[in-house]
Amino acid sequence: MSQNHNNLNVSVQQINGVGEERASDLSQLGIETIEDLLMYFPFKHEDRSVKDLADAAHDEKVTIVGKVHSEPHLRFYGRKKSRLSVRVLVDERYLVTAVMFNRHFAKKQFTVGKSVTLTGKLDKNRMQLTVQTYSFKQPSLPENKEESLVPVYSVNSQVSSSFLQKMIRRAYDEYGRNIPEILPEPLIQRYKLMGRSEAIEHLHFPDSLDLFKSAKRRMVYEEFFLFQLKLHTYKRIQRDQQPGMTQVINDELLQAHINTLPFTLTGAQQSALEDILSDMRSDRAMNRLLQGDVGSGKTAVAALALYGSITAGHQGALMVPTEILAEQHYMSLKSFFEGTDLQIALLTGSTKTKEKREIYAGLQMGLIDLVIGTHALIQDNVHFNRLGLVVIDEQHRFGVGQRRKLRQKGFAPDVLFMTATPIPRTLAITAFGDMDVSVIDELPAGRKKIETYWVRESMFDRVVQFIDKELGQGRQAYVICPLIEESDKLDVQNAIDMHAKLKECLPQYNIGLLHGQMTSDEKEEMMKAFANQEVQLVVSTTVVEVGVNVPNATLMVIQDAERFGLSQLHQLRGRVGRGEHQSYCILVADPKTEVGMERMNIMRETSDGFELAQKDLELRGPGDFFGTKQSGLPEFKVADMIHDYRTLEVARDDAAKLVQHDAFWEQKEYPQLIQYLKREGALESEHLD
Ligand code: ADP
Ligand code: MG
Repeated sequence: MSQNHNNLNVSVQQINGVGEERASDLSQLGIETIEDLLMYFPFKHEDRSVKDLADAAHDEKVTIVGKVHSEPHLRFYGRKKSRLSVRVLVDERYLVTAVMFNRHFAKKQFTVGKSVTLTGKLDKNRMQLTVQTYSFKQPSLPENKEESLVPVYSVNSQVSSSFLQKMIRRAYDEYGRNIPEILPEPLIQRYKLMGRSEAIEHLHFPDSLDLFKSAKRRMVYEEFFLFQLKLHTYKRIQRDQQPGMTQVINDELLQAHINTLPFTLTGAQQSALEDILSDMRSDRAMNRLLQGDVGSGKTAVAALALYGSITAGHQGALMVPTEILAEQHYMSLKSFFEGTDLQIALLTGSTKTKEKREIYAGLQMGLIDLVIGTHALIQDNVHFNRLGLVVIDEQHRFGVGQRRKLRQKGFAPDVLFMTATPIPRTLAITAFGDMDVSVIDELPAGRKKIETYWVRESMFDRVVQFIDKELGQGRQAYVICPLIEESDKLDVQNAIDMHAKLKECLPQYNIGLLHGQMTSDEKEEMMKAFANQEVQLVVSTTVVEVGVNVPNATLMVIQDAERFGLSQLHQLRGRVGRGEHQSYCILVADPKTEVGMERMNIMRETSDGFELAQKDLELRGPGDFFGTKQSGLPEFKVADMIHDYRTLEVARDDAAKLVQHDAFWEQKEYPQLIQYLKREGALESEHLD
């Protein structure tokens, strides 16, 4: 029956039960091949051993077994949304109302008297269970622990977690047992690591918690090791290649421009600028990360560096992740360079064809000094005449490949990355391998502190009053709903519900909605309407880009704030406080733990991003699923840069040693690693053969 296949790099359609349609659903999760599927790890396991309801806590996620007690009740909202509720008798004692959303098709399965296993969140006061999964199979016995550790996958509306579980099981049985080892044997020995194939199995379907932990330990090491191997390979290749350009900056012109600015640079800005200029003057290609809180004046520093490059007779480019950010940067740089004769252009996906052609020509002929744009900048038909400096904003939003592509548009131009995410310095150096780091850890004088409050959910009416007050004074506000990893449907639903609720409470205002299922055009349009003040309040999920400068926005409300990391809360809070008016941040949260409460208090007391990042590091525990997402750090499937920092350091040293070793390249000791590097595009074949 089950064969053993060796090639994992084949379409998921090879699996029984995955046809064309399913394959296209899976590809939306980034799963194309069997390998992708096997490497699609659950973000947690749930203990589905059945509990006595008497022991369950309010709001706890529980699994119950009971009998359908009465006919299910189904209601539709619109054409697609529905609510199915059914009463279930548990242990002959408790009557629980099970509620399911958008599963109208399940109605006929719930026949009275039938035994059912349900998992979901329990509202103990109302004895109501919001169901996430249900099954009519016999439940696993409580003592059979293994069976009850069920993997939970991050899914979307087309693909369910249980479908994934089934397909991954199949894929593993057919393909997984032969997965070759990729790590060097001496390292496996030294750290007593579990084999690759075994680790993959136990990450999905652990036989015990201990095995899961060993599997995880192995995969964390592997991810870090391979990542560092790539970074150090780049570094070695760069070292072997020609040097970067030496930029002869006209200091007088630059200083003259600095003197025209309506402010004096802070000390931190000055020293960051000096770092950058000295990199640019040297014949090494600059590869520097500029970190600083929102509003700390990074863009001003970058603009001066770009100006420096232009005074050296070169061109500059600034790449940002979204069109609206590109437009905003374009406007602010235009005013920053008012009074100079710089030719500045804006190039995005929606630039008109005719204008695009003119810009292409202008860049190629060197008539344009500075271009600001999105991904449009890395299209093949963009050629520069003499690109000197590339600035990449919110660097983590671009992949390594995209960053390299822009870099390749010049003759080894200098590159400056910017991020508003405070990352402790040591971590940044390790995370980005070969990058130098400059930090702006000082805000310009006179900035108003954002007043931060923490309120309980029960005080939401007061929050609405506060929103009303701010909007009534002509200000604008954001309301952020948290991301729900289990399901983007629930996630979007959350935001939709909040939007409806606020519209009802505040009918006199235009209230917008932003969520991950909107197209990027729709999102941009909404953000534009907000920026133009046509919309006063925007309800948004965190997946949505809110990195836009709207100085009139003075209020940030964050729902379920305990579900976010401190750094993330700080990032969100930084969306306000950009104008002349006093700004506020309201954290709505009912944290259940001491640490949770401490976090809320830290947010109230601290406005320094680096301090918060450090605290985040200290307070984080395992099970913090909202960890590195959007933190500006590279993301891994299993590993977490902050939590697994020690392993990261070890893996870095191991990878660096290997790469420095000429034998690694010449004798091809570890062909599987060389192959990996080639597959990842870190090595072109000519570097080897
Ligand atoms: P960032 O890019 O770090 O978010 P910006 O460079 O956009 O910060 O600066 C935010 C605002 O502060 C801008 O309006 C800018 O003109 C202003 N600014 C920058 N540096 C200073 C400074 N040293 N003193 C006062 N205002 C400054
Ligand atoms: Mg900026």
